[in-house]
Amino acid sequence: MALVVQKFGGTSVGDPDRIRNVARRVVETARAGNQVVVCVSAMAGETDGLVALGQDLGEGDPTPREYDVLLATGEQKTIALLAMAIHRLGHDAESLTGWQLGMRTDASHNRARIQEIDCGRLRAVLDRGAVAVVAGFQGVDDDRNITTLGRGGSDTSAVAVACALGADVCEIYTDVDGVYTTDPRMVPSARKLARISFDEMLEMASLGAKVLQVRSVKFAKRYGVPIHVRSSFHSAEGTWVTREEDVMERLVVSGVTYNRDEAKITFRKVEDQPGVAGRIFDPLSEAGIVVDMIVQNLSSDGTTDMTFTVPVGDYANALKLAQDAAAGLGAEVEGDDAIAKISVVGLGMKDHAGVANRMFNVLAEEGINIQMISTSEIKISVIIQEKYTELAVRALHDAFVDAGGDEPREEG
Ligand code: ASP
Ligand code: MG
Repeated sequence: MALVVQKFGGTSVGDPDRIRNVARRVVETARAGNQVVVCVSAMAGETDGLVALGQDLGEGDPTPREYDVLLATGEQKTIALLAMAIHRLGHDAESLTGWQLGMRTDASHNRARIQEIDCGRLRAVLDRGAVAVVAGFQGVDDDRNITTLGRGGSDTSAVAVACALGADVCEIYTDVDGVYTTDPRMVPSARKLARISFDEMLEMASLGAKVLQVRSVKFAKRYGVPIHVRSSFHSAEGTWVTREEDVMERLVVSGVTYNRDEAKITFRKVEDQPGVAGRIFDPLSEAGIVVDMIVQNLSSDGTTDMTFTVPVGDYANALKLAQDAAAGLGAEVEGDDAIAKISVVGLGMKDHAGVANRMFNVLAEEGINIQMISTSEIKISVIIQEKYTELAVRALHDAFVDAGGDEPREEG
């Protein structure tokens, strides 16, 4: 008997018929002899509606504790409805809120982190042969305040429950068929990947692919629980996110991602001295602004240029802080929010040389200028002008994915 955690997102439980459909799938899995925990999001649009209400009554600054009490109601509604639908199919099921299932988090409202799951109640439900229907996105802190995990947090709830229970798989049901080599709305030849490693998925999720929340992939990797991303509308296999050893096809490039939600800030003529970078970045970190790429030039005349990127939502604030810092340093500041980050990701880069220069050549052939570059063992990212996003993604997908996985040739 396997233990399966199934997670259904907002679209998959978007109306009563869809909830009935989910109930059928869950019961099918249970009747095939599995223990099933099903974790659900709020119905499509529900959380957005609650956000709007909270922003309205809270006048743009809702009290964090009450905001969480409000947001958590979306998932509470879905678990009750789904449990009822399962009962109508003649199967036992019990709904559990974050508090009831022992989802303990820290006290940071609206972006709480999971600390521990006390699985006693869950096990009791499973042991009597019932399906446990659990609310995603929510937990409870040590003082029994309701917390939420941040938008998209149900993925993380589901994977965390799967890890705590030592489940055989965490199935993430969604409105796409799996993880694609790039955004299929942008590139029609994008294809579904059968398997992808945790590390590739982590890079892709943090670089802009929206299928899974980054934190959920971190959990799965830490506990070695495979995630199966699949469609809630049909039963075809989706994409397995799994350990590197279990990924057969080591593609040089398995994904091309883009992110238009960053902006860049440049300091010109900063004195090349110890302590300067601290004076630039301290105010940003104090303001809670997360800096992504950082590039510093070699200095020639005792001064240097430094460029970094920040989330576009923090751009105005970051630019202001940068201008203040620059005034104290005798430097100049420039900003640009019309940029995009384009990345290629793939395990095979570990043992293939030449991916970076091939990427640069492909972009050059399209006349696209590269403004910044950063790399890791399995990814290369560049910053370009935002208006070239589609062109760049298509050209790179053509060159690396459509052209097949065996170029550039193996080193040595
Ligand atoms: N309902 C929450 C949201 O929309 C959590 C989730 O769906 O994952 O962000
Ligand atoms: Mg989601």
